Amino acid sequence: MPERPRQPLELSRADLQALVESLGQPRYRGDQILAWLHGRDVLDPADMTDLPRTLRETLAAAWSPTPDSTVAEVAVSTDGTTRIDLSLHDAACTQTVLIPETPDDVEDEDDTPPPASAALPALPPLPVLPTPSPQPPIPWTRSTFTQCLSTQVGCAFGCAFCRSGSVGFVRHLSAGEILVQRHWARRTLAERGDIARTVVMGIGEPLHNLEALLAALRLLADPRAGGVSPRRITVSTIGLPEGIRRLGEEFEGRIGLAWSLHAADEETRRRLLPAASRRPVAEVVAALRAYPLPPRRRITVECVLVGGVNDSVHHARDVVRLLSGLRCKANLIPFNPWLGAKTDLAAPAVAAVEAYRETLAAAGISVFVRKPRGADVLAACGQLLGTSDGGRFPPPRDVGG
Ligand code: SAH
Repeated sequence: MPERPRQPLELSRADLQALVESLGQPRYRGDQILAWLHGRDVLDPADMTDLPRTLRETLAAAWSPTPDSTVAEVAVSTDGTTRIDLSLHDAACTQTVLIPETPDDVEDEDDTPPPASAALPALPPLPVLPTPSPQPPIPWTRSTFTQCLSTQVGCAFGCAFCRSGSVGFVRHLSAGEILVQRHWARRTLAERGDIARTVVMGIGEPLHNLEALLAALRLLADPRAGGVSPRRITVSTIGLPEGIRRLGEEFEGRIGLAWSLHAADEETRRRLLPAASRRPVAEVVAALRAYPLPPRRRITVECVLVGGVNDSVHHARDVVRLLSGLRCKANLIPFNPWLGAKTDLAAPAVAAVEAYRETLAAAGISVFVRKPRGADVLAACGQLLGTSDGGRFPPPRDVGG
């Protein structure tokens, strides 16, 4: 099979500078191209109007004017959360999610609020992209979204409660395939708004695909390219110490870090996180302590609470003990069910979540209970799969004989 040509979106700044120099152009032309690709979502060299015509023509002969992925489906939840399914060059699928920001999302007093956003006028139906099912009315009233990016097709970690891991590991995404999710999301949003925060919490384990992740983040955070402030980016990880160290070094701790802890005791961890629990949890804590967090920033510790498995006050106390002395805040995520999840997994009782929350809060940990967003179109945490499957939850159950 012929090798897949490198996509413009995955060329680093140095790659682009070398490319334009090899074409007899000054290096700054590379930065002009970066701004078109990542700042303005323009991939067609013919539209890069500040480049000399000869350069535009040479690039147009070498580059495809569109990405080598397509939007397979856009599914919009009644809460405005939007799941975009992408079909990649090899027909593998991945998904990205846009979550409208609400005042509740500004949960961190150490975080500057997102730029003020005016309410948008009444929206026309979704344009451009094919949607197989009729869309519900879109309750988008704000112009800022959080985008959740995926880093793999499938996932190698197989956490018991997570749908993405249920298909196993298929392949890593390239840096371009990570960044093209932003390209398609901004084109889908068009005038409806923009992306104020980026969370790498979609399908896969970002630090398992470290080189591509770092390459994508470098372009996203470069003021000459994506121009996204690193403090508006958060990477969520199961806790891979080497990756945590590299991410901390490369961005001097300015990229937000979220750790999926779920339970502090090894027995519960083995049950919920079989792959991650092969390494002692203390090793992860040591890596997190060494993460060079800027002043006033904290690590987010995520706990998916599964009814009767890790949602007791006793589990909460173990978590408090483990986190002692770590500059962190906690996000509690009630388990989001999906068809095919193990039958012993259930959402936690409201009272259990509240008791868990109080235990952490009483120990001085600031704690936030994450509301499920987009669950009706399988776009909530842990419901992404990477294959278009109709997008409704729950789908009709087979009543087999
Ligand atoms: N591999 C990374 C990022 C992907 S998952 C990680 O583990 O952090 C993003 C978040 O969703 C994680 O905190 C994960 O534990 C959580 N999650 C997974 N399945 C879930 C489910 N069914 N309900 C609620 N949260 C879930």
